[in-house]
Amino acid sequence: MPEKLLRWIRPEIQNLSAYHVANADGLIKLDAMENPYLLPENIRRDLQHALAATALNRYPDPHAKALTAALHTYMQIPSDRAIILGNGSDELIQILAMSILKKNTCLMAFEPGFVMYRMIAEFAGIDYVGVPLDVNFNLDIGLTLDAIEKHQPAIIFIAYPNNPSANLFDASMIETIIRLAPGLVVVDEAYHPFAQKTFLPALSEFENLMVMRTVSKLGLAGLRLGFLCGSPVIVNEIDKLRLPYNINVLTQTAALFMLENMAVLEQQAGFICEQRTGVFAAMNKYDGIEVFPSQANFILFRVRYKSSDEVFDIIKDNGVLIKNMKATHGPLRNCLRVTIGTAEENKFFLQALEKALR
Ligand SMILES: *Cc1c(COP(=O)(O)O)cnc(C)c1O
Repeated sequence: MPEKLLRWIRPEIQNLSAYHVANADGLIKLDAMENPYLLPENIRRDLQHALAATALNRYPDPHAKALTAALHTYMQIPSDRAIILGNGSDELIQILAMSILKKNTCLMAFEPGFVMYRMIAEFAGIDYVGVPLDVNFNLDIGLTLDAIEKHQPAIIFIAYPNNPSANLFDASMIETIIRLAPGLVVVDEAYHPFAQKTFLPALSEFENLMVMRTVSKLGLAGLRLGFLCGSPVIVNEIDKLRLPYNINVLTQTAALFMLENMAVLEQQAGFICEQRTGVFAAMNKYDGIEVFPSQANFILFRVRYKSSDEVFDIIKDNGVLIKNMKATHGPLRNCLRVTIGTAEENKFFLQALEKALR
C-alpha cells in the first residue's frame, strides 16, 4: 500500500499544495513576468558557439569564480561585499531559510507579496510572519516595527519593487527597517531592470543588509541564476548549505556571455518600460477596472463590477493567459495581474480586456 509510506512524510509537507504553473499552450503568455523578446540572431549565434565550447563532461566550477567576478564588476557590487549564486533566486531564499534558527524567531515578509517567501519558510519548517501592507500596498511602518519587536525575525524579505503590486516601497522606510531589524534584511531586487532603484550602494553602510537579484525578469528566466550580496561573514556561513555544483556549466557560460552583451537586455527592458506606459494609459481608460501604478514589468488591476474569474476566463478564451490572483476578499480581492509583452501581444491583451469588460 503506497499510502502506508506517507507516514514517513512530514505532515506539514502533506498539507502543502504544490506551486501551480498554468498551462500556456497556444496562448499568448502574459502570466509570469517573462521578457517577451528573443535575443537577436547574431547574439544567439555567438552564444551557441560559446555553449558548444563548454565541457559538458566536467563538473562545473563549484564556486563559479569567473561568473562571480564578472557580476561583481558589471553590477557594481561594493568590493568589501561577498556574492553567493543560486539556481534562481528561489534557491537563495531556500538556502537562507535553511540557515536560520528554528525557534523563537521567524522569516518575515509583507502581504500581499511574493509567495515563495512563505512557501519556502514552510518547506524549511520555520515560522513565517506576513506583515500586511496598507491599502495602497505601501509599507505600514508602525505595524512593521511592532511586528519586528514582537517576532524578532531572523530574516526580513522586502521585494523592491513588490510582486504582485508592482510598486516600490518608500526607501527611507526600508532604511528604518534595516536599522531596527535584529537580523538580516534581504532587499529582493528581481524587478530592478524596470525600476532602476537599488540598495546595492547601501550594502557597505549596513552590515545586516543583503541585496538579491536575478537574471530571470531581465530576459534569462530559462537560465535559472540569481545572486545574493552581503556581508562576507554571513555569505561564508550560508555558502556551506549550497549544493556544490548548483550553477551548471551551461548557465555559467551563458551568463558570462550575456554579461558582456548586457546592452541588448537593457534595451529590451527599455522597450518593456515604454510599453508599460502605453498599456497602463490604455487600461486606465476603463471604468470597469482599478489599475495600480507599476515600476515593474507587470500591472496589477482590480475588476470593479464583474467577477475577476469571469474577466480572466474571457481574456483566456480570447487567447491571452494572464494571472488570476484568485482572491475573493482582502487586499487582492478581484485582482488580476498582466505581464507586459511585445507591442503586438499587448494589443491582443487590450482587445481581450475590452471584450471582457463589455
Ligand atoms: C520572480 C521573482 C523571483 C524569482 O526569481 P528566480 O530567480 O526566477 O527564482 C524572486 N523574487 C521576486 C519578488 C520575484 O517576483
